[in-house]
Amino acid sequence: MSGPQKGKNGDMEQTYCMIKPEIVAAADQQVGAVLAILNRAGFRITGLKMKQLDRATVEHFYGEHAGKPFYGDLCDYIAGGPVVAIRLERENAVAALRELIGATNPADAAVGTVRDLFGASLQNNAVHGSANLEDAARELEIVFG
Ligand code: ADP
Ligand code: MG
Repeated sequence: MSGPQKGKNGDMEQTYCMIKPEIVAAADQQVGAVLAILNRAGFRITGLKMKQLDRATVEHFYGEHAGKPFYGDLCDYIAGGPVVAIRLERENAVAALRELIGATNPADAAVGTVRDLFGASLQNNAVHGSANLEDAARELEIVFG
């Protein structure tokens, strides 16, 4: 009853959300607005910290993208300033967070999603959300230990 199982409807899950550096650094810092959206969507925040990730950690975090043309720039960008790391809990948290943040490219993100509201470009798309339960566990371990 306690631990996350396979992501079927009704399971309590944990997922990882990360507010990316350009939002944290901006003059009109929208960290609070993003947190409010998460809470309104029924997520419990069970871990929260601002942290600068070193480049090796970011390379590991985004390891699935190693070798892709955007990988180097992506790692420079995420390691380039502090992020806000958020551990979230909710039923169906992984899928619910992905839906709430919207498509990777803000230009394609549904109206009202976080990336629609705050994303600036395909790379600078405001937030990260784990893609599946395995990634969520792996990413939470990297950032929260
Ligand atoms: P998501 O974050 O939606 O899971 P991906 O895992 O495909 O998307 O990519 C990880 C991150 O890499 C994206 O959130 C974005 O910041 C960046 N990214 C993805 N594809 C591109 C691209 N074609 N050009 C530049 N940056 C990209
Ligand atoms: Mg991804």
